Amino acid sequence: MDNLNLYELLGVAPDATDDEIKKNYRRLAKEFHPDKNPDAGDKFKEIAFAYEVLSDPEKRRVYDRHGLKGLQEGAEGFADASDLLSQWFPFGGATGGRPKREGKVVIKLELTLEEIYVGGMEKTLEYSRQKLCENCNGDGGPQDAHESCEACGGVGRAAAFTFMGLSPFDATCPACDGRGFTIKDNRKCSPCRGSGFVEEKMKRDLIVERGAPHMLKVPFAKEGHQMRGGEFGDLIIVLAQQDHSTFQRRHANLYMRDLEISLTEALCGYTHCFNHLDGRSVCLRTQPGEVLQHNHIKMLRGGGMPVFNSPADTGDLYMKFKVKFPENGFATAEQMALLEEVLPPREHIVIPEGAEEVEMTDYKPQARPNPHGDDEEHGNSPHFESVQCQTA
Ligand SMILES: [Zn+2]
Ligand SMILES: [Zn+2]
Repeated sequence: MDNLNLYELLGVAPDATDDEIKKNYRRLAKEFHPDKNPDAGDKFKEIAFAYEVLSDPEKRRVYDRHGLKGLQEGAEGFADASDLLSQWFPFGGATGGRPKREGKVVIKLELTLEEIYVGGMEKTLEYSRQKLCENCNGDGGPQDAHESCEACGGVGRAAAFTFMGLSPFDATCPACDGRGFTIKDNRKCSPCRGSGFVEEKMKRDLIVERGAPHMLKVPFAKEGHQMRGGEFGDLIIVLAQQDHSTFQRRHANLYMRDLEISLTEALCGYTHCFNHLDGRSVCLRTQPGEVLQHNHIKMLRGGGMPVFNSPADTGDLYMKFKVKFPENGFATAEQMALLEEVLPPREHIVIPEGAEEVEMTDYKPQARPNPHGDDEEHGNSPHFESVQCQTA
């Protein structure tokens, strides 16, 4: 099913309205229903899948942005806390939201590196979940207002399942949510608009644990959606760490890359103060005469993140230095002579007789025609790595 175009399958334009999608789905579902059209193969399955995706605003958005791959990867149902609220639509409403068939609610909670470093703060998450409507006990309307579902001919979930076999996607009839019946329009239960589900606003408090790993899943049993049968799914909060402007993190270690230092600092002593993640000021320094090389890596043992679930342990902090040399003409001839007295002597070169003395120019990467037709980066800047590649 990798190269399916779901809009083409339903015969609608990519900007089709919910009504158009619904209308075409109903027409095609009747036409290719396995009872009527047993030779149609997977067609019915594909149509049902296309409708499943395009009639759900959340899934349609994922599909529009990331295609089928995005849907498969997003099968866990990721949502940001803020996203989830803004995307919540009343069931059966004009927006076409339909009951969730998976009880699990997954919410991503973004945390700063500071929050993870310090730990202990309380976060409150607000989200919505579906719950069976108390007014109709989840039926959507009175018994005598049931109409057999047009789209699946009343077979709902069981028959659809047999037919669809091991589909990776939910195989329930999307039009009736697998119940095989719909409710007459004028007799739909009003709080749930016939879906049997209403929205419940929820709050969940959570204490951020020190050193929590990026993408840690914190489960809360039975705080997810309520299902048709009455059981509740779980709420999963995924702790996602935001990027930080000073530090990069790998497990419990922290990295400060490309700390820029001047040539003077590299040679004559360096002091640099920064705020650590708990706000405390930390100063790095070298002694005069201690040389910091370009790309030098230093470490501060215990200067990293607290180790998750091991409160007494901390990772390390690594720093990598980048020496910034002075610009052309930074010193006069006399000053240069003084410098030479101080710096290690240079090698004495004897120029062979008749040697050609040449001037070098600065190399500046620029766009030029690419005769090999390989990737631009290669064509535009013959950097040293690729030179090595060729001679190897
Ligand atoms: Zn109801
Ligand atoms: Zn149905």
